[in-house]
Amino acid sequence: MARGDEKMRRMELRRQSGSRTVDPARYEPPPKGPRYLIAHACFACRSSLKRQPSDEPLVCPTCGGHAYEMGRAFKAPPSGDLEQWKKVQALYAHGFRFGRYGPLEGVPALPERYREVEQFVRENPEHPHRYGEPDESLLP
Ligand SMILES: [Zn+2]
Repeated sequence: MARGDEKMRRMELRRQSGSRTVDPARYEPPPKGPRYLIAHACFACRSSLKRQPSDEPLVCPTCGGHAYEMGRAFKAPPSGDLEQWKKVQALYAHGFRFGRYGPLEGVPALPERYREVEQFVRENPEHPHRYGEPDESLLP
C-alpha cells in the first residue's frame, strides 16, 4: 500500500535534487479531492478507463485482467490499432508513464512507432516520462 506513496516521494526527491529538470510552468501538482481521475489501460483487451488513484490493483471491467495506471495525460489508441497498443505497452514496461501533458521543452518526444521504442529507451534512460517502476515481463 505504501508503494504509491513511495513512488511519489522518490519523484519529489528527484525533482528537488534537480537531477530531473522540470519546467515549473508545466509541473502539475496532483489535484486533491475525489474528482481526481487517472487513466488506466488494460493491455489484454486494449481498453482504457479512468479511475481515482488507488493502492488496490484495478481489475479491467471488460476482461477481468489487470488495468495499469498510465497517468493523467494518457490517451489510449483506438482499440483496433494493435501497433500503437504494443508501443504503449512497451513504453509502460520500460517505466514510462503519462502524467504530464504536452511535449516538454528540450525533451525528446515519445516515439511514434512501436519499432522505434527499443532504440528510444536505450538513448533516453533519464527521460522525464520514465518515472514508473519498469516491468519487463510486460514487454509485448
Ligand atoms: Zn481488459
